[in-house]
Parts: sequence; structure tokens; C-alpha cells
Amino acid sequence: MGAGILEAFERVKDQIGFCGIWCGSCVVGNGTLRELTRRYEETTKAYGLQEWAPKDFDYAEFSKGLSAISDIPLCPGCLSGGGRDDCEIRACALSKNLDDCSQCPEPEKCEHAEILAKMRSGARAAGLFVKAGDEDREELLDRWSAALKRGWPCCVLFMNGG
Ligand code: SF4
Ligand code: SF4
Repeated sequence: MGAGILEAFERVKDQIGFCGIWCGSCVVGNGTLRELTRRYEETTKAYGLQEWAPKDFDYAEFSKGLSAISDIPLCPGCLSGGGRDDCEIRACALSKNLDDCSQCPEPEKCEHAEILAKMRSGARAAGLFVKAGDEDREELLDRWSAALKRGWPCCVLFMNGG
């Protein structure tokens, strides 16, 4: 496991966004996207892909693309300035002094219900973990962390080698 990867995950592993999305499970913030790209690049180089790829394959562009993905900044997480700029959900929950929307006293009056539902369902569809009820945060983080280490693609962070 690379030191950078540990650092990335450590930074976001305790952050649950105001909408309930667990930043620790996001491949952009926890380092998975970068690690997958690095390992893929290493593998294709080790196999000499450039030598035997199809003739119309543009290896230079391919390499450029992988480098560009590797250079995408690691998101610091919703509670540390990451996430959507000017997020209305974050602003609203903060104005009500809530840890997240599951504590909202009047969810039926939520002006952001549509975007909140869209964020949560989109995140779940992409494999992220989302808190939508009043579960204990510490228990949830323990359970999610264990699941993250076993499941694709984030398990790559916790595998030796490479
Ligand atoms: S920025 Fe907004 S949408 Fe993104 S994780 Fe935070 S609360 Fe959720
Ligand atoms: S009103 Fe909506 S966005 Fe605001 S805290 Fe309640 S559920 Fe979250």
C-alpha cells in the first residue's frame, strides 16, 4: 500500500457529508481512482502494450489520458472544503446546525428534496455508502470501513503489492 494512498483515505474516512454520502467511500477522495490508474499504467507498461496494441491505437494519447487521471486532485471531503461548490444541502444543514440531513426536523418541507434524493441515489448507484437514517455514526463508519476493504474497487487500497 502506498503512503499517499493511506494519507488520502485517512483524510476522508471519518467524513460523512451533510447529504449523508460517506466521503471515505468516494474513489476520487479516498485515492482509489488514482491507485487503479497507477496500477493499470504499470501493468500495461510491464506487458509492453505499446508494441502489440492494435495499429490504430494511439499509445501516446492513451498515456496522456492516464496521466491526466492520475493528476486529478484528491478531493479533501465535504467537511474539509471538497464536494460541490456552493452546495445548497450543506448550506441548509449548516444553517440548522445539523450534522447531516437525517437529523432534519422538517424533512417534509425540504426545498432541496429533489437534489438530495438525486445525490443519494447517484452516489449509491456508483457504489458509495450513504447515511439516510439516524444510525450511530461510529458504528456505521466501522461497518462501512470493513465492507470497503472487502469490496471492489476500493479494496485495491488495502491490497499489498503493486
Ligand atoms: S458537497 Fe453537498 S452533495 Fe457533496 S457530499 Fe457535501 S453535502 Fe453532499
Ligand atoms: S431542509 Fe433539506 S437540505 Fe435542509 S437540512 Fe433538511 S433535509 Fe437537509
